[in-house]
Amino acid sequence: MPNSSSNINEMIVIDGVDGAGKGVQTRLLHQSFVNEGLDTILTREPGGSPAAEDIRKLLVEGDPQKWDSLTELLLMYAARRSHLRDTIWPALEAGRWVISDRFADSSRAFQGIAGELGLDLVEQIHHLVVGDFDPGLVLILDIPETIALQRALDRGDGEDRFEKKGTDYHSKVRQAYRQIALGNPSQYRLIDANQSIEQVSNEIIQVINQQFNLSLETSYAG
Ligand code: ADP
Ligand code: MG
Repeated sequence: MPNSSSNINEMIVIDGVDGAGKGVQTRLLHQSFVNEGLDTILTREPGGSPAAEDIRKLLVEGDPQKWDSLTELLLMYAARRSHLRDTIWPALEAGRWVISDRFADSSRAFQGIAGELGLDLVEQIHHLVVGDFDPGLVLILDIPETIALQRALDRGDGEDRFEKKGTDYHSKVRQAYRQIALGNPSQYRLIDANQSIEQVSNEIIQVINQQFNLSLETSYAG
């Protein structure tokens, strides 16, 4: 049954290390929203608008050393600006829910902490580009980075520039996400992603229903 409740639409982000299951889980969550009759877009970072997808290619392909962390951060925020202006803000304005595979916490974890720029620098650029806008909820898929990286490598899609930065880097990325999520429990939830796709999906649906007073059902079909 389509849900005609008067919930305020929000942006929901699923973030976490490469291979955690963000792509799979954002697709399932989007389907659950659609099944409920809620007008919802599925988007991703880096990318999410035509111009930002152009920048994505520069970031996710090629030699891991081709950009330093600061250049990565600037490219990420250039892409994020386009994503917000061309996709996210118009959708929210039109009353749609927005589900995004990655958002600003990827910059905090990858460039800020693992890339050693520091969170203060990221926050300065974040404020300049994003202002006070914040997602309604961020779900961090938490999983040992070695297991996640193996999943990502098995997927083998050629977008492996970050995967190639090695396990030390990704161990820092995982710890950074945990630190960010545990430091702000009102805006973040840590989800145990080292479970089956169905179990993770069920946990996500539960959290979303509770947070936004919805009655979504799982769309996992085996
Ligand atoms: P991400 O977008 O976080 O990098 P993906 O959603 O692309 O991760 O998943 C990476 C790979 O792992 C895919 O091949 C996917 O099918 C698989 N995968 C995702 N979630 C799980 C899970 N819970 N258990 C086992 N494999 C998974
Ligand atoms: Mg992905």
